Amino acid sequence: MLVKPNTQLSLKRRDPDETFGWDKEAAKSELLVMHERIDVMQRRLAAERQHSLLVVLQAMDACGKDGTIRSVFGALNPAGVKVVSFKAPVGHELEHDYLWRTHAVTPARGEITVWNRSHYESVLVERVKGLATVERCDRRYRHIREFERLLVDEGTRIVKINLNVSFEEQRVRLQDRIDDPTERWKFRLGDLDDRKLWPDYRKAYELALSQTSTESAPWFVVPGNKKWVRNLAVAKIVLGELEAIAPKLPPDDPALAGLQVV
Ligand code: ATP
Ligand code: MG
Repeated sequence: MLVKPNTQLSLKRRDPDETFGWDKEAAKSELLVMHERIDVMQRRLAAERQHSLLVVLQAMDACGKDGTIRSVFGALNPAGVKVVSFKAPVGHELEHDYLWRTHAVTPARGEITVWNRSHYESVLVERVKGLATVERCDRRYRHIREFERLLVDEGTRIVKINLNVSFEEQRVRLQDRIDDPTERWKFRLGDLDDRKLWPDYRKAYELALSQTSTESAPWFVVPGNKKWVRNLAVAKIVLGELEAIAPKLPPDDPALAGLQVV
């Protein structure tokens, strides 16, 4: 699933239906174990207050970002997890550089923050729709690598995940949104315009992920057609990142040894 740094990603070679030989029922049980382990690590991360984890989630419309967040992070203590959803920049945001609004919502020490879309929209939608020139987007890959390097150097671990859903599966999910009155509010007519630009988005994703997958802030392409595979895959990646941080409970205060509360 990793996009190896300094290689060219080809999404054609990444199967959105991949199951890694996992069994669906076993995967559901394993996900529950993952939840428990992530919960333990999150408590330690919060207690230690030295590091933070930033999870960047990128995918096309209706391709599972919200569902993944609910599945992987929904059972954690909400005090330690933030979810930030990035929409098109408005008002004051447009008066600043494209990274300005993202830096303000990076995780504090001890926190996990999930970005539902991110600064990558500035080299994805903005590139595809011509909102920023190609030259400008090309420069942005470097800004992004350096911005992420800054965060990593200062104690944030970063992992970036692209949910890879097929063109046909997106059709089904968009249609479901239209047909289900409780989901319809999520559909925008503009989603169909983006869908028409699918090949351009694929190219923009390939470029962006190839240019910005680094040792310290890697990209993973997770197969997204089967939700149970996607959820377990993302949970495993997140747990792996937390284990790499290896947060520890703070040492005991010697003054507490044998202390009795009366
Ligand atoms: P879903 O995937 O479930 O449809 P969503 O993330 O698309 O959810 P919406 O409120 O439908 O949520 O749309 C957010 C929109 O904001 C997307 O169309 C995205 O392309 C757009 N957006 C985010 N950042 C930027 C940006 N920097 N420039 C232009 N558009 C942006
Ligand atoms: Mg949308």
